[in-house]
Amino acid sequence: MWSWWDPGSRRQRVFSEEMECRWSLLLLLLLGSSALAKPGARSGDEECQQNVNCFLPDCLCASTENPGNLPLDQLPQFVVLTFDDAVTPTNYEFYLTFKDFLNPNYCRISMTFFVTHLYNYYDMVNELHRLGHEIALHSVTHKDDVDNYWRVANQSVWEHEMADLKTMLETYARIPAEDIKGWRAPFLEVGGDEMFSAITDLGLQYDCTWPTLHYTNWFDTEPLGALWPYTLDFPSIQDCQLGRCPTQIYEGTWVMPMVDLEDNTGQPCAMLDACNSLENELLVDPDAVESFLRRNFEYNYNSTKAPFGLYVHHSWFYEGGNSTDARRVGYTRFLEYLSKLEDVYVVSVDRLLAWVKNPVPLDDIDSIDEFGCYEPESNCVDTKIFKFTTENNLPVEVDAIYMGSCTLVQPKYYPWIYNPLGDQNITDV
Ligand SMILES: [Zn+2]
Repeated sequence: MWSWWDPGSRRQRVFSEEMECRWSLLLLLLLGSSALAKPGARSGDEECQQNVNCFLPDCLCASTENPGNLPLDQLPQFVVLTFDDAVTPTNYEFYLTFKDFLNPNYCRISMTFFVTHLYNYYDMVNELHRLGHEIALHSVTHKDDVDNYWRVANQSVWEHEMADLKTMLETYARIPAEDIKGWRAPFLEVGGDEMFSAITDLGLQYDCTWPTLHYTNWFDTEPLGALWPYTLDFPSIQDCQLGRCPTQIYEGTWVMPMVDLEDNTGQPCAMLDACNSLENELLVDPDAVESFLRRNFEYNYNSTKAPFGLYVHHSWFYEGGNSTDARRVGYTRFLEYLSKLEDVYVVSVDRLLAWVKNPVPLDDIDSIDEFGCYEPESNCVDTKIFKFTTENNLPVEVDAIYMGSCTLVQPKYYPWIYNPLGDQNITDV
């Protein structure tokens, strides 16, 4: 962009003062505020321009174009699979089966687990992390009163829902603090600037709560295209479907957009749990489950190759009694189909972001450390299952809560928000 403006040769020419002034103004415009303005001085209506006022690895404009401008044959197709809520003896065995699937570089696929605290077994979380999965935050309490709790939550509440769970994961599951990077709000209730301020102030890397319907490869007669992850260095262009979306900027904080799926009735759904079927084929027919997942995957794979996400609560696999095997079988068959595709990488959100920050061609993907094989020794060999009863200040009306842990000494009280170590006698939260 500088080739036409050479200060040396221009200096030879005679300019009126007025012309010089115009050149200065043009220069100012060309440099943009990134070079001239101090951080935080950006005006609200400035447009994000990649490699002009926004630079990888810390800043990426929201876009439907891939961040490396790679040709499709050199662009990996990323698939992001996430599971929400507590890891328990009910779902753990199913989660363990994923360790048999490999990416094209012969390292294991990885998924992201957005964990909640109630009924969680931290020893199982430790093992999922050891197998290469990402452990991320989904709140301590997961309270089900959206209107009176999440919708009115201030920054302090968001911070405790994130930070107190992070403390528990570091303590009871021995997850390194630096490995806990992501957040998803319960019920996809995007919490506005209060929530994004909490994410940023706690030093988390990304949010994965925000669905988009407009930026998909299927919605409307001329789809806008599926959105890639981006940073909030500039006001977002993303449509706001649920909750309150941020109005401020958060430099270096990433949004992993939840690109809506198209369910079998033609309606959008951000999470699999909310996808409807025409009759009940997504409950009873594994072939229907598999073809539903493949159809949505191919919207991206056969067009822009934007990341494809499948987001689900584990309960989706257990609805409806015996018949739910259809979902487990259909989902597993979909993974088998993906594992045969040479350009498809199933990776956790944090690994996808590692590539987005350094978007190398498919052939060079092993140059990214995060894509290597990963299986350290366990640091949770002696595990305990703690039993908490009503004498330990249970937050829900049950007789007992069990909690698997990598620590040996049981906390005096059931750990909870504002009391992650269970050492305080708090009864009124
Ligand atoms: Zn949840």
